[in-house]
Amino acid sequence: MIGAGVVFWNRGLSLLDLILCASFYAVTMLGITLGYHRLFTHRSFKCGVTLRAALCIAGSMAAQGPIFFWTACHRRHHRHSDEPGDPHSPHHHGTGVSGVLYGWWYSHVGWMFSHAPENYVRLVPDLIREPQLRMLNRYYWLWVIGGILLPGLIALAITGTWAAAASAVLWGGLVRVFLVHHSTWSINSICHLFGESPYETEDRSRNNLVCAILTFGEGWHNNHHAFPTSARHGLEWWQCDVVYGIIRSLSWVRLTWDIRVPSADQRVAKAKTLQSTSSAPTEQMPTQRGPESNSLPSTIQQGKAILLGARTQSGSRR
Ligand SMILES: [Zn+2]
Ligand SMILES: [Zn+2]
Repeated sequence: MIGAGVVFWNRGLSLLDLILCASFYAVTMLGITLGYHRLFTHRSFKCGVTLRAALCIAGSMAAQGPIFFWTACHRRHHRHSDEPGDPHSPHHHGTGVSGVLYGWWYSHVGWMFSHAPENYVRLVPDLIREPQLRMLNRYYWLWVIGGILLPGLIALAITGTWAAAASAVLWGGLVRVFLVHHSTWSINSICHLFGESPYETEDRSRNNLVCAILTFGEGWHNNHHAFPTSARHGLEWWQCDVVYGIIRSLSWVRLTWDIRVPSADQRVAKAKTLQSTSSAPTEQMPTQRGPESNSLPSTIQQGKAILLGARTQSGSRR
């Protein structure tokens, strides 16, 4: 990034560099959010083998680790969110301003230098069973290097100059990796520190608009921790979720199917504001740490009826 700053100061940035940086940011960010996260880690929708491979390669191009490593880390995060065992919680790193700052740094970057290797067999047995994913996982570095060089090849084909190719590698490759890294890592750090938490969860996850914009919808992190297997993270109409829009759009041409979203009943059962307005049996809510159940206990159904009544009377959830 220091080198990029020097180049920017001396030569500026061409329109082609800008377009390539934005395009590869979008492709690789979708590889992480749509592929690594919502498809492979949480299985929130289904798609064919070709799209699975394309999403895995796009995610690998983000240079955040091979698919098995990334998925294992993230599943471990959900199992132990903000407790001992969470690979990148910003909490429990001391008190005061220094504790918060160190926690932010640790959850953002520091954890990658100190966490223990994951037990892939225990955490991602479903993915390891797929020969295609084993092959894509093995050639991870090929996809990373390809993702850095590809903008240069495109620029070379368009302009015919090596200078433009080198500039495109810098902005569409290296700088783009930097930007996607920090946007994604903000979900681990900022979205467990700053923002609103409308849903009851056993962790300190937060919804954060800025992070949601940067990551195409991942910033609605409290929603995500409340309903981990939901393909939709922006649960309110005003919560932008580009990734869910793409998943839904692909279903119209039958490229995705079995898309999982929480029912209205499940959302009501976990909403904080409604729980505080009634005598609903919150201690019997479904567990926060596993996939949400499709059928609520009868006591919850009764509580939901009370809650819906309270909602009608108050006229608003918020
Ligand atoms: Zn989280
Ligand atoms: Zn997740």
